Amino acid sequence: MERLKQKILSDGRVLNGYVLKVDNFLNHQLDVELLDEMGQAFAERFAGEKVDKILTIEASGIAVAVMAARYFGNVPVVFAKKTESLNLDAEAYEADVFSFTKQKVSRVRVSKRYLLEGERVLIIDDFLAHGHAARGLISLTRAAGAIPVGLGIVIEKGFQGGRDVLADSGVRIESLAILDSIEDGQVRFR
Ligand code: 5GP
Repeated sequence: MERLKQKILSDGRVLNGYVLKVDNFLNHQLDVELLDEMGQAFAERFAGEKVDKILTIEASGIAVAVMAARYFGNVPVVFAKKTESLNLDAEAYEADVFSFTKQKVSRVRVSKRYLLEGERVLIIDDFLAHGHAARGLISLTRAAGAIPVGLGIVIEKGFQGGRDVLADSGVRIESLAILDSIEDGQVRFR
């Protein structure tokens, strides 16, 4: 998606050599128009795919998932939660996700009420790096007996191996921008 790439080049900042900070349009302040274009782009990439529900993970996946849902017939958006909640935990699917940026494992949960057997689920997230978050979301989906029909990613860091890690899942991956490298603070696209 060309406009996204331009925005990454103009507004993205590189931290610690490999973390791309896109706080002013995706991760903190939200560029609504650009998010809307992302939603539309996901609908084009997954055109013809029946989607009953979109699954994402809090917090940064929510905005783009909601925008995408507008282009998939306003299907519900469910977000996996990272915090424990007494009334959720008894009846929830759970997965452990290792965060490379935070260097810790956190448990993510979705209530069994919101992922149902046979539902066709499109998974959307802001970044794909090592593939841990996506793997967790695919596992939650399958635990419910639902079908992960695709993985839509805004920014894939192609040099961190997530796509390979997920290859055995058989889930189709569509990324709106793929970074080939981040070197000396410079982002290079594939
Ligand atoms: P993975 O689980 O694929 O290793 O990493 C994906 C998750 O880590 C995303 O949900 C995102 O929150 C975070 N993440 C990984 N790399 C980056 C990055 O370069 N920039 C930002 N903003 N988040 C990242």
